[in-house]
Amino acid sequence: MKRKLIIAIDGPSGAGKSTLSQLLARRLDYININTGAMYRAVALAASRAGIASDDCQALEALCRCIRIEFHRDNGVERVWLDGEDVSEAIRTPQMSLLTSAVAACAEVRQAMVGLQRQMGAQGGVVLEGRDIGSVVFPQAEVKFYLEASAEARGKRRYDELTANGLEVDLQQTIDEVKARDSADSAREHAPLLRPEDAVGIDSTTMSIEEVLTQMLAVIEQRINDGQEA
Ligand code: C5P
Repeated sequence: MKRKLIIAIDGPSGAGKSTLSQLLARRLDYININTGAMYRAVALAASRAGIASDDCQALEALCRCIRIEFHRDNGVERVWLDGEDVSEAIRTPQMSLLTSAVAACAEVRQAMVGLQRQMGAQGGVVLEGRDIGSVVFPQAEVKFYLEASAEARGKRRYDELTANGLEVDLQQTIDEVKARDSADSAREHAPLLRPEDAVGIDSTTMSIEEVLTQMLAVIEQRINDGQEA
């Protein structure tokens, strides 16, 4: 039987992490964990409860009483918060910016990292986020760092939002992607960084299929290395 690995995918927003981790999980029959969606669910719960994004104590208490789940619906991954499907509600531009602020709280990170470690402990899992290879699972057998130019990432986000019926401006979307990049990279706790042992892929001019092929080749190699060892 093939070894069940922990696969970590980190990188800035719009680099293709969500799409690729879903595709990889499907191909490998692994569980997919979108950790950004977990932070987004916390941000949504906080805004509904009227909790300020810098009130870390209140956010910590909130994390203890909310329930975040992933469910697959017709092959598409959905995010649930306290029994409600919030997959669309967590993806608005306002929620993206609020999430970056909430995710800067050490207490929130501690709560989410604990959940992510529980979910991934058995292996056979693809986790995507900002700190998977550096903090959540530094021992992950395979680590990827996906990136692309801010313009390419902003355009992808813009296409995604407009496809979902939201009216947004392209330049503003690119600027928001850049703002989130700097907030995520400059924060004190678990900033976005490229783990030294991660395989870097710049997808600016690559198709999803090309990136997927490259990632699968790396994973196959690791599985074979492990079987020979
Ligand atoms: O990946 P996504 O863009 O949905 O993530 C939303 C926000 O959640 C990021 O901008 C970042 O602030 C935060 N995040 C994080 N750590 C992770 C995943 C996401 O801080 N592992």
